[in-house]
Amino acid sequence: MVSSQRNRPRLSIPILFFFLLLSNLLFAKNDFVKSQIRQAELKLYFTSDIERVTYFSIPGKEGVTKYVYDIYGATLPDGKGISQHTFRTVESFKMGQNSPERLRVVIQSKQKALDRHAYQGKVLAIPLVHGQKATIEGVTLANADKKTKFKSTDSPINRYIVVIDAGHGGKDSGALGGQDRIEKTVVFSISKKLKTKLESMGFQVYMTRNQDSFVELPKRTEYANEKRADIFISIHANAAPNKAQENIFKGLEIYYLSPAQTQRAKDAAEKENSVMFQDKDYYTKNAYLSLLNREKIVESHKLGLDVDHEIVSSVQSHYGHLEDGGVKPANFWVLVGAQMPAILVETGYITHPQEGKNLLNSYYQELVAKGIAEGIERYLKNKR
Ligand SMILES: [Zn+2]
Repeated sequence: MVSSQRNRPRLSIPILFFFLLLSNLLFAKNDFVKSQIRQAELKLYFTSDIERVTYFSIPGKEGVTKYVYDIYGATLPDGKGISQHTFRTVESFKMGQNSPERLRVVIQSKQKALDRHAYQGKVLAIPLVHGQKATIEGVTLANADKKTKFKSTDSPINRYIVVIDAGHGGKDSGALGGQDRIEKTVVFSISKKLKTKLESMGFQVYMTRNQDSFVELPKRTEYANEKRADIFISIHANAAPNKAQENIFKGLEIYYLSPAQTQRAKDAAEKENSVMFQDKDYYTKNAYLSLLNREKIVESHKLGLDVDHEIVSSVQSHYGHLEDGGVKPANFWVLVGAQMPAILVETGYITHPQEGKNLLNSYYQELVAKGIAEGIERYLKNKR
């Protein structure tokens, strides 16, 4: 249950961003130095070793695709960028500070599949022609793989980081379904099972709380950003609005953050995004916002659909039927600020006579955890 959390952040947004800026100052700086195009390849040079690069693409109008590369730990000094470049297969080159710890490169091109980039030391190489493999110092990525010198973002699952957020905790019990049906306890138990399952599949997993403790909502996504998670999953259990309806309300529901609708949500979104618009940004504000929002919403929705599908099939394989409430947009504070696909899973109604009983059952929890883990895997496999 999250209704009490929808409209009231416990920590104000300005304070949250103060912490974000502070954490930025604590990171070692890795400045972008220069770029050049050689042999149909864009090479980017930095002052320090590149930590990590992630990649995704967004199909656009008239066959133009946006290829997006996020370079973690990198910063863009004033007056620098890549917009001066021209190349026959590329419509535009852009570079901007996407977040304090993430430099974003966007290449618009009609070419298909420019994802065989590579990075080593201080250099990132992005091929600009379909089918070409990135090279660094004359070594192709394929050769480099054997030497295990390069890192490629054609990542196996074990490169992915998941942050699990067990809802509520400490003084905040969440929903209560009578007797020992306490949301914070049930969701913590499911979260621990999910962690074990994901780790057995090779994921790197962190939890926003490892015990029955109270964690402020903004701290939860802040933690996921800090860990540079690829996925953020918040686990909850629901409650019927009143006792008379306890027999009626049941089933699984999954939420993702929707475009801001209320004035309050719009204000929050404005503040969330403002940290990314500093003087050094090369994007026009609106174009940048539409890219950022669409990517995050679309990806979170896709993640929600895969997780929903897998939980339903996992639970139904042993329990016959699970009411599927589907995947819906909502403005949950706990998802605001996440820089990765983020969803909130209402695993079921703790107040329903049978479902509430199931949610306390260890095997049922196991099946829910298995479904979530397989949904995450399915989403990431489809994405690659
Ligand atoms: Zn809850």
